[in-house]
Amino acid sequence: MAELQHKIVLDESQLPTRWYNLVPDLPSPPPPPLHPGTLQPVGPADLAPLFPDDLIAQEVTGERYVEIPGEVLDVYRLWRPSPLYRAHRLEKALGTPARIYYKYEGVSPAGSHKPNTAVPQAYYNASAGVRRLTTETGAGQWGTALAFACAQFGLDCEVWQVGASYDQKPYRRIAMETYGATVHRSPSELTASGRSIRAGDAHHPGSLGIAISEAVEVAAGDPETRYALGSVLNHVLLHQTVIGEEALLQFAAVGEVPDVIVGCTGGGSNFGGLTFPFLREKLAGRMSPVIQAVEPASCPSLTRGTYAYDFGDTAGMTPLLKMHTLGHDFVPDPIHAGGLRYHGMSPLLSHVYELGLIEALALPQTECFAAGLQFARTEGIIPAPEPTHAVAACIREALACRESGEEKVILTALCGHGHFDMPAYAAYLADEMTDEDVTDERLAPSLDALPTVPA
Ligand SMILES: *Cc1c(COP(=O)(O)O)cnc(C)c1O
Repeated sequence: MAELQHKIVLDESQLPTRWYNLVPDLPSPPPPPLHPGTLQPVGPADLAPLFPDDLIAQEVTGERYVEIPGEVLDVYRLWRPSPLYRAHRLEKALGTPARIYYKYEGVSPAGSHKPNTAVPQAYYNASAGVRRLTTETGAGQWGTALAFACAQFGLDCEVWQVGASYDQKPYRRIAMETYGATVHRSPSELTASGRSIRAGDAHHPGSLGIAISEAVEVAAGDPETRYALGSVLNHVLLHQTVIGEEALLQFAAVGEVPDVIVGCTGGGSNFGGLTFPFLREKLAGRMSPVIQAVEPASCPSLTRGTYAYDFGDTAGMTPLLKMHTLGHDFVPDPIHAGGLRYHGMSPLLSHVYELGLIEALALPQTECFAAGLQFARTEGIIPAPEPTHAVAACIREALACRESGEEKVILTALCGHGHFDMPAYAAYLADEMTDEDVTDERLAPSLDALPTVPA
C-alpha cells in the first residue's frame, strides 16, 4: 500500500529570517491613521506613549522585508517552522477530488499563531527599557501568548480579559497566570472606561473594544508601561508573515500551488500572515489563488460593515483607523469564537479587500462547529472555534469540487487548537448553540454613530 504523506515539515535552517511587508507591492498604500483631535495623520510622537520606537517604525515602514532579530528567532525555534498537513482523511470523508492542506499554528506554546507577534513585541519593548505591558484578550489566546512572551524577556504583563470569556473560560485565565500575568475581568473598576460601562451594567459581558480601552488607558498613564495589540495593526500582520513564508516553502517542497486560500478573520492577523506572501506571488504573476476571508455572521465587519474612519476601541482613545467596521460601540453577541468578536478589521486588510485582491464570506457558527467536529473526527486536531470558520469554508469548497469534479488545491490556516474551548464544544454537542440573525436594524445604531471625518 502506498504510504500517505500527512505532514510536510521544514528543518530549523529553513526558518524564515525576515518578515514580509506587503505595502510596497500594492498599487496604492493604505490610508494613514488619523489623530482624532486634529484629523491629521498620526506621527511617531502620538504613538510613543503606547509603543516602542522599533514597532512604530515597523508600523509605517516602506521596506519590503524586515530582518527578524536573533533573540526572536531563538524563541521562534521552540516551535517553528510549524507543520503543513495534507488533510487526506478529511478529503476521504468528503469524497472530494480536491487536495486540502492546512498550516497548523496550534503547535506554539500558547496553542495559536499569536506568539508569532507576541514574542517580537515583548522583545522590542524589553530592549527599549519598558517594564510592563498591558493588553486585552478576547478568547484568551492573545493574553496567553503575550504572558508567555513577557516571561521570555522579563516583563510584567497585565491583561484585561473580555468578561464573557473570563466567565466561560477559567482555564485560559489560569494559563496566563501560570506564565506570570495578572488578569482582570473587563469591564473592570480599575479604569475610567471600565467604570463608565459598569455604571450601566455591573455584569456587562464586555467586548474587545472595551478591553482595549482599559489596557490603553493604563499604558498611557504610566511611563514605564506600554501597550501591546494582538491583531489589526500593520506590525502585527508583518510578524505573522512567517506563516505564509514557511507555507510557500512547504508547497514548493511537494510541488503544489494553491488554487484557493481560506482563512478566518477577527482582526486579520492570521489571515494576513498566511496570505500576504502568497499575494506577493500573485501580484508578481507567479500564481493566481483565489483568496477568501471568512468571518462570523454575527460580527460581519468585511461583508456588512462600512469602510470608514473609526476608533479601534470603544471609548474612542485610539487613533482613527480607516477600516471595515461595524462601529466602535457595536457589541457582538457573545458568540463562541471570542477571537472573532471585534467591531473592526485590520486597515491593511480592509484596503486589500477594497482593492479587490481578496474575497470575503460570513458563516453562521453552527455550520462552523459542525465543520470543526468533522475535522476533529477525521484529522484528529480539535480546532479552536475561530478556525472552524476557515474549515467550514474549506469544506464548502471541497464539496463544490465533488460536484464539479475539479481537483483544486485548497490551503487553509488552522491557526489554533481548541483545547481551552470545551465550553463551546459542549454547547454545540448539547444542541444548545444557536445562530443569531443579525438584522440591519441591529447594525444601524453603531454604524450611524461612526465619527465624522471630512474627505
Ligand atoms: C486571535 C485569534 C483569531 C483572530 O485574530 P486574527 O487577528 O484575525 O487572526 C483567530 N484564531 C485564533 C486561534 C486566535 O487566537
